[in-house]
Amino acid sequence: MPRPIQATIDIHALRHNLAQIKAAAPDALVWAVVKANAYGHGIERVFEALRAADGFALLDLSEAERVRQLGWRGPVLLLEGAFETRDLELCSRLNLWHVVHNEAQIDMLAVHKTHQPHRVFLKMNSGMNRLGFAPSAFRAAWTRLNALPQVDEISLMTHFSDADGEKGIEAAVATFSKFTHDLSGERSLCNSAAVLRHAKAQNVRADWVRPGIALYGSAPDFPLHTASEWQLQPVMSLNAAIVGVQHLQPGDTVGYGSSFVADRAMRIGVVSCGYADGYPRSAPTGTPVCVDGVRTHTVGRVSMDMITVDLTPLPQAGLGSEVTLWGLPQKTNAGATEVAGAAGVSIDEVAMAAGTVGYELMCALSQRVPVNTSS
Ligand SMILES: *Cc1c(COP(=O)(O)O)cnc(C)c1O
Repeated sequence: MPRPIQATIDIHALRHNLAQIKAAAPDALVWAVVKANAYGHGIERVFEALRAADGFALLDLSEAERVRQLGWRGPVLLLEGAFETRDLELCSRLNLWHVVHNEAQIDMLAVHKTHQPHRVFLKMNSGMNRLGFAPSAFRAAWTRLNALPQVDEISLMTHFSDADGEKGIEAAVATFSKFTHDLSGERSLCNSAAVLRHAKAQNVRADWVRPGIALYGSAPDFPLHTASEWQLQPVMSLNAAIVGVQHLQPGDTVGYGSSFVADRAMRIGVVSCGYADGYPRSAPTGTPVCVDGVRTHTVGRVSMDMITVDLTPLPQAGLGSEVTLWGLPQKTNAGATEVAGAAGVSIDEVAMAAGTVGYELMCALSQRVPVNTSS
């Protein structure tokens, strides 16, 4: 028998989440962001469900090739554009649209030989200070691009630093508007957090929105909102099983470093999932898990292949019991625990306990974990 661990990608949830995003930005075209192998879910697994989007946005050229190989003829956007001149040949061949965020990329375009002019997304740095032209340099870049025979339509974009937080997007939107108001071209501004929180604001013109994390059912602004408050459903579930049981006496310790010390007699379960599977080693004692659909928590340190969980609330649980690390149980008759509206553990809760975000846990799901899809 294979080691009992399984990730499940719920295609129905993915379709549902895409529909939620469309409802939040009803007039916009949607880029389904599938970078990092669709946030760890697998481009090939999510493709059919996300066909209902208007385009796919990603950054690795190899991922763009995969999307074309799947038969997608619609728009594909390279979110970081070309890294070297050669990349533009692939853009021409596969008809990829690409971001232009610095002068060097305009230089590459200027010497690129193509029959078909390229659709480009010119990026402004509106305060994030990663990629993009300074607002004051934006117009000159637009003018330079506009003069190139290699360039077809120019769209205008920026990426918000604070769509999920208190600072918000107002200042960034004001900057973007101020320096682009008389430039023609479609606009693309909003990531998931901006779509859910701000897309309906008057001044947020968004011809194209760029949701990633919300598609996959994690709340971009957790814990301010939970995924279920945004009516998003978890797409990735990670389930394993209890493969060992230990009975502790007061004073007994658990795991490497003996970081957990029992203060009473208790039963613990040893679970077939560890950091080599993508479970965060930084998750402390107390991180939520479900056993047979009932909520409990981890005890002691996460090791490479195992974690340990408190079975106190689960007198019936034992060898073979299903353990949900995040998402929903697959075998257990759900309904035993109400977590944010559904039985299970939200990936955002686990991420927060571990001092990270749902994005990182999804992306870190390890190669050795078998994945199936369910609809
Ligand atoms: C990753 C990315 C997104 C999607 O962000 P989410 O927070 O996952 O919605 C949007 N735009 C750009 C430029 C990105 O790099």
